[in-house]
Amino acid sequence: MAGDVNLPEALLAPIAQGGMAMAAPLPVLHEYGPSVRIGLSAAAVPQAPINEAGLSEQERLGLQAFRLRLNASYKEAKERRPHKSSSWGGDDGQPQLHRDQHAVIPPATPVPGNPSPVQAAPPVRRLAGRIAVGLFIVSGPGSLAMTDAQQQKIVAEVQNGLSFLGGQAPAKDVTFVYDTQVVPVTTPDTAGQRPVGCDPYEHFEAPWRDDALTSIGHPAGLAGIRSYIKAIKTAKRAQVAYCAFFTHYQLHHFAYCRGEYLVMHYDNDGWGTDNLDSVFAHETGHVFGAPDEYAESGCDCGGSHGFYGRPNLNCENCAEDGGVACIMKRNTWAMCAETPYHLGYTMPPAGAGIAASAVAAPGAALEA
Ligand SMILES: [Zn+2]
Repeated sequence: MAGDVNLPEALLAPIAQGGMAMAAPLPVLHEYGPSVRIGLSAAAVPQAPINEAGLSEQERLGLQAFRLRLNASYKEAKERRPHKSSSWGGDDGQPQLHRDQHAVIPPATPVPGNPSPVQAAPPVRRLAGRIAVGLFIVSGPGSLAMTDAQQQKIVAEVQNGLSFLGGQAPAKDVTFVYDTQVVPVTTPDTAGQRPVGCDPYEHFEAPWRDDALTSIGHPAGLAGIRSYIKAIKTAKRAQVAYCAFFTHYQLHHFAYCRGEYLVMHYDNDGWGTDNLDSVFAHETGHVFGAPDEYAESGCDCGGSHGFYGRPNLNCENCAEDGGVACIMKRNTWAMCAETPYHLGYTMPPAGAGIAASAVAAPGAALEA
């Protein structure tokens, strides 16, 4: 077992050069390249020899992360993680996960003179098939630098959090395919008062984010984020793609989702770095349409959420006895009966052990 998500994860045999002839029949949970793939197996998988000298940087980071998650000290730290099982509403002295009850912050206002097309309904993404995950590890000057150990920690935390989300998929058909970019920038930190009227998230995020985007050949701003996401979706032959920025730069809030991308401060505020995994999993839930379920979010049990357009029946404010434990409610590796639908997992047909009310009725098209 790696980390604390209680799944039988194993390194799979490398894909032989020139094709998929040796492709493992096991579900693939994480793919960093043909030589580093982590799968699910109830039985022991013989560890294939890996030619470490021949690994790409992406594969090296993925393998290091997996090894870190197998360490006893890493697992012990996870068992002792601060604020374990606490509400994301911050009932234990730690900050609430979202500022101003906003689970998803609308994208920044377009620059005048460069208006975006008429706002269409946001695309509905689903957690099924190959999911491209772009990780920007932004390393600034001086104390804003990301050390090697911090880079490894970030990749491991993301792997642990997404192992939980992938492992919960009933069809075991979710594969996270990574593009990890460690991007050095020289941007100074954004200090002082922000101008009145500007988007506060954008104010703190834009300077280093845009330097990071342009340094890997994409435009600045939302256009660059979209161009990057489109590029990794194509390159990874994925059904859906999203990205996340990890930084030491000052932010308006320590973790947030802006629809198709996440921004996370390495320190993770009062939750701490050992909860980067669960915060990342929760925020990824929002990318795929899952609503908050903790009381302070102001949730209600109605609405139409995610790929299947289902109500938020496990919302703490109205579910019987406050509902059950769920990653969308608390800092816990648990999931209620509704969140799988909100995330858009491939669900078993009605009658296969699922209540009749759970008939899959996709109400929205897949993201193009
Ligand atoms: Zn949330």
